[in-house]
Amino acid sequence: MSSDIQPQTGVPGPLFILSGPSGVGKTTILRELIQKEGFPLHQSISATTRAPRSGEIEGRDYHFLSASDFESELAAGGFLESAQVHGQRYGTLKREVEGWRKKGFGVVLAIDVQGAEQVRAKTRVDCSVFLTAPEEVLRERLNHRATDAPEVIEKRLANARLEFARAGEYTRVITNSDLSQAVSELAGLWRPYFNRE
Ligand code: 5GP
Repeated sequence: MSSDIQPQTGVPGPLFILSGPSGVGKTTILRELIQKEGFPLHQSISATTRAPRSGEIEGRDYHFLSASDFESELAAGGFLESAQVHGQRYGTLKREVEGWRKKGFGVVLAIDVQGAEQVRAKTRVDCSVFLTAPEEVLRERLNHRATDAPEVIEKRLANARLEFARAGEYTRVITNSDLSQAVSELAGLWRPYFNRE
């Protein structure tokens, strides 16, 4: 059921960070919040140098850049943050954030722990969440996704352990074992950031 939350008026929309390992369900949970719960949220579309997976679409899932285009954007000051994750470059483009916030929309950055640290150092983050799941659940989801080679999956799981060690840097840790429970926990946490006087 939609909770019919209106975009902020008069003040910029809130800035949120959602981190967590590959396969934990960040994209699915955000889709539920926006489409089913009616949150006025924009998920920032990151830039990356990694190749598109099958089914991924340029400008919807990522801005897929060549290494040299990524460097040019970096040199031009176009990134709010950028990091190397699993051997590829990822970054948040400033143009994905400020325009939406001015219109009163909340903006969510689904980024890794290194990126989250850079953003906190530069700007005020309203609420940051680390999403986690039991390792066996993650392994199963990554295998099921069947888009990455086994050694890439192991690299992602090893990285998940390193990232989890920094979960204490976040406002809240949410476990995604049950999707609807995780969505309602996140909705309850973020709802008060909209339509504040
Ligand atoms: P994937 O290749 O599975 O789409 O993403 C791998 C990881 O890269 C994600 O789990 C996420 O934490 C991280 N990531 C995605 N976009 C960005 C970004 O713009 N900045 C940073 N720092 N990390 C990102």
